[in-house]
Amino acid sequence: MQSEKQNIPRVLEYSLLENGLDFMVSGVREVSGAHDQRRLKYGVLHLGAGIELVLKEKLRRFDWKLLFRYPKRIDQQKYLSGDFVSVGLEECIEKLSKYDLAHLSQRSQDALVSFYNRRNRMQHSNFRESKKKIESAGLEVLSIIFRFTSQHFPPSSLSKEELFLLNSFHAGLKNFRRFIRHQKNASAPQLVQWHAKHERLFNCPNCSRPETMKAAGRVECAFCTYSDTAENAAQLYVANVTVRQECSHIYHDFDDVTGEYYELPSDLKYTPATDISSRLHWCPHCKRKTVAEHVNKDCTLGFICFNCGKVFEACCIKCGAPQDLASLTRELCVSCRHPDKASRTARTIA
Ligand SMILES: [Zn+2]
Ligand SMILES: [Zn+2]
Ligand SMILES: [Zn+2]
Repeated sequence: MQSEKQNIPRVLEYSLLENGLDFMVSGVREVSGAHDQRRLKYGVLHLGAGIELVLKEKLRRFDWKLLFRYPKRIDQQKYLSGDFVSVGLEECIEKLSKYDLAHLSQRSQDALVSFYNRRNRMQHSNFRESKKKIESAGLEVLSIIFRFTSQHFPPSSLSKEELFLLNSFHAGLKNFRRFIRHQKNASAPQLVQWHAKHERLFNCPNCSRPETMKAAGRVECAFCTYSDTAENAAQLYVANVTVRQECSHIYHDFDDVTGEYYELPSDLKYTPATDISSRLHWCPHCKRKTVAEHVNKDCTLGFICFNCGKVFEACCIKCGAPQDLASLTRELCVSCRHPDKASRTARTIA
């Protein structure tokens, strides 16, 4: 009993984005599992609240004063205590466009506003609409907010609590089969284009969808539209993809006799190294520290550069630098094979 009591915080505290994401998490849960109209109703109410708060967070990050509906009443104390009349959804969308903070297509704007108005009608008056229509409108706004959060709130810009909620939002969507189908259709044209250009595709570290992200030129995911600097994407990749891949691989070992993988007994299982910086490397091709370790399907370690998109199959056993197999001799890179030559070159450059 005592431990239950201890888990209840004495102060309820949410940042704007935490609050928005929390409503989105709840909205996804209610809409995806809605077998009765009560759950669907709460799904719509919570998604409506979530949409508004998530979009307002973008305004707040630029300038908190933009959140005030009446400019003459702008007051920092009132802002901090949350005691002010805030802009409505339509005004928020207008300001996002006016200050060049986000570009929502007219279709997306209409979908968000009409969903939000549906929420108001549901809250205040007699409401009648088919379940199918509500669900398809819900899928569309979820898709817009999923892309919006991926584009504007990369994990590197979030607090621990916000990141936890963003991951919960993604986890809820992952189990929502109709949403996945909807999003797959939406991302298909982009993937077709990339395939035609022979782009090499990787698992997205933001939405964890397999083979939807390209790394060369600009890091970009067709599924969630996540886009970030090569450095941030490499870090996120190690944290969200490499470590997880290892967890699933290292619990298995190869049996030479049967030729099959078997699960290791629990006392032999170990936790992979989660020290992210030790798993980021300098790229021998583009000379930036944008190479992340990656676990191949056959459990071997590979390396991906998130700046130039090059993939390296091996690394030097002495200095650990990623390399093409062809440039290694006795598993050593050129600098480690000829240290004198390397230091002479370094002196000449200096
Ligand atoms: Zn993604
Ligand atoms: Zn590179
Ligand atoms: Zn070396």
